[in-house]
Amino acid sequence: MARIVMKFGGTSVADLDRIKNVARHVKREVDAGHEVAVVVSAMSGKTNELVGWVQNMPKVIGANSPFYDAREYDAIVASGEQVTSGLLAIALQSMGINARSWQGWQIPIRTDNAHGAARIMEIEGADIIKRMGEGQVAIVAGFQGLGPDNRIATLGRGGSDTSAVAIAAAVKADRCDIYTDVDGVYTTDPRIEPKARRLKKIAFEEMLEMASLGAKVLQVRSVELAMVHKVRTFVRSSFEDPDAPGMGDLLNPPGTLICDEDEIVEQEVVTGIAYAKDEAQISLRRLADRPGVSAAIFGPLAESHINVDMIVQNISEDGSKTDMTFTVPSGDVEKAIKVLSDNKDKIGYDVAQSESGLVKVSVIGIGMRSHAGVAATAFRALAEKGINIKAITTSEIKISILIDGPYAELAVRTLHSCYGLDKN
Ligand code: ASP
Ligand code: MG
Repeated sequence: MARIVMKFGGTSVADLDRIKNVARHVKREVDAGHEVAVVVSAMSGKTNELVGWVQNMPKVIGANSPFYDAREYDAIVASGEQVTSGLLAIALQSMGINARSWQGWQIPIRTDNAHGAARIMEIEGADIIKRMGEGQVAIVAGFQGLGPDNRIATLGRGGSDTSAVAIAAAVKADRCDIYTDVDGVYTTDPRIEPKARRLKKIAFEEMLEMASLGAKVLQVRSVELAMVHKVRTFVRSSFEDPDAPGMGDLLNPPGTLICDEDEIVEQEVVTGIAYAKDEAQISLRRLADRPGVSAAIFGPLAESHINVDMIVQNISEDGSKTDMTFTVPSGDVEKAIKVLSDNKDKIGYDVAQSESGLVKVSVIGIGMRSHAGVAATAFRALAEKGINIKAITTSEIKISILIDGPYAELAVRTLHSCYGLDKN
C-alpha cells in the first residue's frame, strides 16, 4: 500500500465526461489499496472567465481606475476549484467510493497575506491523514488557501500544481502524480522538434530550469517545493485509458518522474533544451565603472517589478567606463527605459540602447557539472547554421544563449540534435 496524491489540471476536468474519466483514474488507485488524496484545478477556461469578470466589474460601474480589491479577486477566482472538487466527490460517490471535498480553509492550507499570489506557509494534514487511513478519498480544491486575515487566498495562476506538491509533502505521500494534457516532460518542445523524446526521469534542479524557461508543464513554485521536500513527482496524462496495462504501476507508471538526482542512474550530460520568447536586450553604454553602479541600475528596476534576467558587464578597458547589457521581458522594455532615464544622473551612463523580439535558448543538464566542452559544442553547432549569438550566460547546469527571434526554432532543433537528444 502507498499514499498517493493525484492532481488533475483544467483540461482533465473540462466537462462532466472528463471528470468521470478522472474518477476512473482515482478508482484504479483506490481499488489497488492505496490511500489517495486528489487535488483539482478549475474546469478549463473557468479561471480566465472569473478573472475577466473581476476586471470588468469596475468598468461596468464606470469607475475611472481598473482597481479592484485583491481579497475579492481571491473570493471570486477561487470558486472554480470549489465546483470541481464537489463534482469529483459526487462522481466518486456515485461509483461507490467514499470521497469528500475539501476547500483550502477547511484543511486548512495556511498562506501568507499576498492575496492573488499567496505562498503556502503551513498545512494541517492530520485530519486528512486520519480520514485517508479510514479509506476516505480527500478531494482538495487546488489554488487556494486561508490567509492570516482569515480570508481565502489564491496562489497565482497555475497554483494548483503547488497545492498538490504541498499536500503531498504534508501527508508524506510516496508520490505526487500531476495528471495533465501532455504525457510527460520532453527533451524540448515537440511542436518545434518532432523528434523530442519523453524523459523517463528528470532531476528537480533541471526541471526547475526547464519550468522557468518556458516549458510550461508545471508552476515553477511547485517544482521548488518538490525539490525542498523531496516529493517524487510524476507528470503523466489523464487522457490515457485509466485501466490500460501499466497505468497503476507503482514504481514505473507512464510519464516523467521528477526526482532527486541520486535516483537518476544513467545521467546524460544534457537533459533538455528550453527556450523563452519575447525577450529584450538593454545596453547601457559608457557607464561609470565604480562601486554601486549595478545597485543604482537594478535597484530601481526591481522596485518597478521589472524582472531582469541575463546580466553581462564588460571588463572596463581603461578603468573608468564600461558597458552593461541585460535582458527583460519585451513587454517591459519601455517601462525599463523610463526607469533608467529617470535615474540617469544617479547611474551615470551615456546612452541606453534596446532591442526587442529576442529569444533565449538554454541547454540544461546536471551532467554539465562534470563534463567539459558542453558550451563549445553549442557554439560550434550554432555557428554552422549561421546563427549569431548576442549574449551568453552560464550556471553550473545551464547555458543560456540570446539570439534573434526568427532563429528560435532552428536554434532549438540545432541544439537538440548536437547533443544527440533526438536519438534513443
Ligand atoms: N485554475 C487556476 C489557474 O488556471 C489554478 C490552476 O489551474 O492551477 O490558474
Ligand atoms: Mg496548470
